[in-house]
Amino acid sequence: MSQSESKISFEDFALNRQLLNAIDDLGYTEPSPIQEKAIPLILAGHDVLGIAQTGTGKTAAFVLPLLMITKYAQGEHARCLILAPTRELVSQINNEITDLGKYTDLRHVALYGGIGPKAQTDALRAGIDIIVATPGRFLDLYSKGEIFTKGIKHLILDEADKMMDMGFMPQIRRILEVIPRKRKNLLFSATFSERVERLSHEFLEAPVRVEVTRQATAAETVDQWMYEVPNFKTKLNLLAHLLENPEVARAIVFTRTKTVADNVHKFLGRKIMDKKNLRVIHANKSQNTRMNSMDAFKAGEVRVLVSTDVSARGIDINEVSHVINFDVPVIYEDYVHRIGRTGRANLSGVAITFVTIEEAYHIKKIEDIIRTQIPQKELPSEVEITETPFEEQQIMLRVVDEQRKKMDPTFQGAFHEKKGKNSWSSKPKKTKKPFSKVKKSGNKR
Ligand code: AMP
Repeated sequence: MSQSESKISFEDFALNRQLLNAIDDLGYTEPSPIQEKAIPLILAGHDVLGIAQTGTGKTAAFVLPLLMITKYAQGEHARCLILAPTRELVSQINNEITDLGKYTDLRHVALYGGIGPKAQTDALRAGIDIIVATPGRFLDLYSKGEIFTKGIKHLILDEADKMMDMGFMPQIRRILEVIPRKRKNLLFSATFSERVERLSHEFLEAPVRVEVTRQATAAETVDQWMYEVPNFKTKLNLLAHLLENPEVARAIVFTRTKTVADNVHKFLGRKIMDKKNLRVIHANKSQNTRMNSMDAFKAGEVRVLVSTDVSARGIDINEVSHVINFDVPVIYEDYVHRIGRTGRANLSGVAITFVTIEEAYHIKKIEDIIRTQIPQKELPSEVEITETPFEEQQIMLRVVDEQRKKMDPTFQGAFHEKKGKNSWSSKPKKTKKPFSKVKKSGNKR
């Protein structure tokens, strides 16, 4: 992406206010690359072949336009069928429909095996607009007369490569026989193999192919490691400690949100370093301020830049000595973008990631994408481990519960049992007074 202001926003798509408000509530500030490419094509009525992995925002890339097209509750029978290989994925897609469709009255249901069909058939009988299903459970309920298929106008196959690996092709073919021929189709797959290509010929009509490529090169060249950190305060302590090292000559500290970026920036300016060696950029800063900060950083006048992904995306900041991921990105590609800022042109790059218990889920997915296990280091003994405030702990455990539910829809939630048993929230260790002894570091360049 160029440095100029060619950035697309969600407002640029022909989406209605209900959807834009839901996107806003979720905190998605701009479309991910696959969303940027796929949403307009799907809205324009094309069959689309999307090559994208989990973590690229691919689910919203097809859910948003489908919600827009399906619009509001109508009749009794499904107009949209989404097939996915596992109940975990079916449930994730269904959750995303719940979140993105919260201001619509669209009715949707997740159909998967392993549990009794009563709740699922009740939902179908009450009238339905969108079905998300594993092929097996779909056929099972279809054969029992619970699903009327003649109204289906959109069919989506998600993770088609995995469906083929799992031997679902015969079921998918059977489903194709019982739904109307005249319909729109979308096919998403993490890989583009010959088999996927063959399936796309069979299944799609004049498809447009969109792809977001995996950029693994940086992941292979940059020296990466991570620290398990129990809470926000300890993350600050660890950051302060790392910045004491003069080898950290020019660092970007990435945060997930503007608020955290501002808090980290304030903390560093108050306790750790001279303000003139420090800048923060995020979407609330004017374009001019952002460009000035960037120029000063590139010229080596500024040692530490605190930034959100959004503001760093598309801007050419390379050749930094250290990338510090204060938060784990939830758009997993951003991890690759972030660490790609370092390790260029003979400079040895280092990427360090801070991971709390609630972020471990995302780190595993990032490791899958970069096909590398990120080594974990012990927290340096000088870093004070602050006790996790009760409220922060509760929020984290609740998120962990949600994640476990996503992975296993039958999981009832262990939130209450887990209270106080969180292995990551180690007891406070008073090795050092918080921050008071940390030296002020100047610009080393
Ligand atoms: P997926 O690739 O669909 O599994 O999505 C990965 C994660 O990114 C999910 O947790 C989504 O909620 C989140 N996500 C999707 N689109 C965006 C966006 N435009 N901005 C920020 N997060 C997003």
